[in-house]
Amino acid sequence: MKKFLLFSFLLVSLSLSAAAPVDFDRYFSDRTLRIDYIFSGNARQQFIALDELHVAEGWAGRRVNLDEVPLRGNGQITMRDAATKAVIYKTSFSTLFQEWVSTEEATATTRSFENVFQLPMPRQNAEVTVELYNPRQQTTATFTHLVKIDDILIRPLPSASPYPHRYLHKGGDSKQCIDIAIVAEGYRAEEMDVFYRDAQVATDELLSYAPYSTYKDRFNIVAVAVPSAESGVSIPHKKEWKTTALNSHFDTFYSERYLTTLSLKTLNNVLAGVPYEHIIILTNTDNYGGGGIYNSYTLVAAHHALYKPVVVHEFGHSFAGLADEYFYDSAYGELFPTDVEPWEQNLTTRVDFAQKWQNMLPKGTPIPTPTQGKPDTDMTRIGVYEGGGYQSKGVYRAFRDCRMRTNEAPTFCAVCRRATQRLIQFYTEQK
Ligand SMILES: [Zn+2]
Repeated sequence: MKKFLLFSFLLVSLSLSAAAPVDFDRYFSDRTLRIDYIFSGNARQQFIALDELHVAEGWAGRRVNLDEVPLRGNGQITMRDAATKAVIYKTSFSTLFQEWVSTEEATATTRSFENVFQLPMPRQNAEVTVELYNPRQQTTATFTHLVKIDDILIRPLPSASPYPHRYLHKGGDSKQCIDIAIVAEGYRAEEMDVFYRDAQVATDELLSYAPYSTYKDRFNIVAVAVPSAESGVSIPHKKEWKTTALNSHFDTFYSERYLTTLSLKTLNNVLAGVPYEHIIILTNTDNYGGGGIYNSYTLVAAHHALYKPVVVHEFGHSFAGLADEYFYDSAYGELFPTDVEPWEQNLTTRVDFAQKWQNMLPKGTPIPTPTQGKPDTDMTRIGVYEGGGYQSKGVYRAFRDCRMRTNEAPTFCAVCRRATQRLIQFYTEQK
């Protein structure tokens, strides 16, 4: 009897939660709450501190599936109504800080990193919790603070952008669409024709790839012409430092090709007044490199010969949370422990393969799938191929090749396409 009652209670609560999605207009006004945090620490311990709060008119983010995350990410933010504690908004992300924590430098020193998040502005006081996870998916830092809606120190952001900007693709109203801002970095004011051309190339390239090509009407892409004092970008290993709008540079964490910016506040400041959810930074350089961080930004070199595949690849990281499918000769790494199922949809350790592309595999497919006798770029046969996420052992990908593995692959593999499509639907359709 007790069991039966418990079971009915579960059924009722399940059906209630399925029937009652968080109503955007009930809990939020059409404004954006921008919260800046400082994440600091070292390999042993990490801390989260509140930096600044801003408010902006308009909310470009999603208005559906508010209390869920599409992917686990390396960190999450949860907003609760302060009075009822009901979860009213969630989002997930990854950060450069967490990548740095796994570097050699983090075993010897402590550093701090800026992080900026946009949340819908609640109508009532809200509690915001930030959590950071390690590669084993354990919580390494957590921080909760109260946002009082009448706090006089919440600084308003300008409602109109001071920078020239131009829509390169308009799928519809920003309330329904996913808004991408392409930002100029290392272009002087007189070089903006070049920037707009580069941004158009990125737009056309991205929208030519499935599944973006199928969902063009759900995206807006705006190019924001932020001028820099100098042309180009900083390349520390060549002793070249430039004064640019976003302070970006190669040699991030002493890795020559890793081009990033640590100035997240400046990046978000220059975008104030433009509706945006996802960011692509184009740098005016032909030096090879780039980076993409889930729900933070993509940054690429716009004048390198591999610009087109690289911008799509990096956006695969920053928009869709896809992992790198390439790997090195070293067998094991620290980013994907082989006894933990990664949250990235295009890799598996086979700890919980049912969560991944198991239901796409034809019956009888050998696991792991042998690679002998096929060209390395074969994208026709789905399998469970060993090697991915920088590791040659214990991590598996679905196809021999993919846009997330090489610059030569012509498309995203079917698993990456499905993961990206799910994300587009999550942002634009109520489940
Ligand atoms: Zn793939």
